Amino acid sequence: MLNAGLSPFVVKSLPVRLSRYFLPVLKETPGDAQVISHQLMLRAGMIRQTAAGIYAWLPLGRRVLAKIEQIVREEQVRAGAIEVLMPTIQSADLWRQSGRYDAYGPEMLRITDRHDREMLFSPTAEELFTQIFQNGAKSYRDLPKNIYQIQWKFRDEVRPRFGVLRGREFLMKDAYSFDADFAGAKHSYNRMFIAYMRTFARMGLDAIPMQADTGPIGGDLSHEFIVLAPTGESDVFYHENWLKPRDTSAIDADDADALEGFITGLNADYAATDEKRDLAAESAAGDQLRQSKGIEVGQVFYFGDKYTKAMGVTVQGPDGVPITPLMGSYGIGVSRLVGAIIEACHDKDGIIWPDAVAPFKVALINLRVDDAACAAAAEKLYAELTAAGVEVLYDDRDERGGAKFATADLIGLPWQLVVGPKGVAAGIVELKRRGGERVEIALADAVGRLS
Ligand code: ATP
Ligand code: MG
Repeated sequence: MLNAGLSPFVVKSLPVRLSRYFLPVLKETPGDAQVISHQLMLRAGMIRQTAAGIYAWLPLGRRVLAKIEQIVREEQVRAGAIEVLMPTIQSADLWRQSGRYDAYGPEMLRITDRHDREMLFSPTAEELFTQIFQNGAKSYRDLPKNIYQIQWKFRDEVRPRFGVLRGREFLMKDAYSFDADFAGAKHSYNRMFIAYMRTFARMGLDAIPMQADTGPIGGDLSHEFIVLAPTGESDVFYHENWLKPRDTSAIDADDADALEGFITGLNADYAATDEKRDLAAESAAGDQLRQSKGIEVGQVFYFGDKYTKAMGVTVQGPDGVPITPLMGSYGIGVSRLVGAIIEACHDKDGIIWPDAVAPFKVALINLRVDDAACAAAAEKLYAELTAAGVEVLYDDRDERGGAKFATADLIGLPWQLVVGPKGVAAGIVELKRRGGERVEIALADAVGRLS
């Protein structure tokens, strides 16, 4: 491991009483939302649009975003990356050093401050990470390094749409690796590759790494990680083997050769976006070739000395000869993932969160707040679940049962624990898996079953 330090960030999500929470659900589907994830995020009270492609994150959305962020963070740390936080507003001069201030085009939001200095809202951060690296690294002994942040980006997209799937302001994890030679840089790339496989799998997603276009820099070292969804904007082509889950648990990412072998094995199954289609590989796949639409949730990219050379960055080599570090950059669309997961996990009644990213584990539903025995049983369950560390959303509102079920289904918590007067009298509660089975269990067993 490059860095065995543990993440200093812990998300401890506290239980909540719905009567005191802020969950503005909508009964009607908003007319301007075209895709299901956008509709459900609005209806479930997760987000509100404040300007085209710009969203306010409400409490439920904020919790999911934090869950996703934390999984991304843990897998970055596990891969040896080190967390920092860069400013969103950067100076045009920095971007002139790489030539990108003029090259970037209208997606860059340009700002002028009161002294007429040209600034911009960072759409990505290669230049700043390169500069920060240069300030701190002097010798080959400082290599390799992989530094990342989870920070808001702004791209003035020509067509912001589909809610958080294509926003203008969006949360991105961006990592930047620095290595002394190509073998090291390839290992850094492979570490991120496997970290991405693990990250998306932990979120309950099948994300397929696809050969991606590297643009004017060339080379074949770029992959986009694509979640299959009919609403995706990318056309993708892949061998049907990719539909089977891949087990990455046994691979030792510190072993460069073993890791390279594993990834080469994975990539033997064809998968490419439409810019990188390989007709020979497609005909070899025969009737096992699949075509569909997909959502890009991440990209890994090796680009060598593009920025370090342009910005004059070197470190002292072992023999005194300066080395120009080789770089890669690695993005994950953290806020886009919220929408992508919903695209993959929902039914006609609402969201079905995979356990790892659910905003709460359990909806505790009291069917009759006006029934003393029922309310007492629900309060006791709430206290015990809280004490057991279970993330519970307690629906203690004075509402009909039907409305409570509809809310719980809509917001998609993995479990519903239903407390009604008849059941309580008989010592029974109902436990329902969202999108699955409904069973009656003894009231006394409920906390044990859920902790
Ligand atoms: P796209 O092709 O979808 O425009 P990109 O290739 O330009 O994305 P990257 O520069 O690779 O994006 O950014 C890293 C990740 O950030 C992407 O894989 C994607 O998940 C996310 N992302 C990029 N643009 C947006 C956006 N407008 N809204 C939400 N997420 C985005
Ligand atoms: Mg990309």
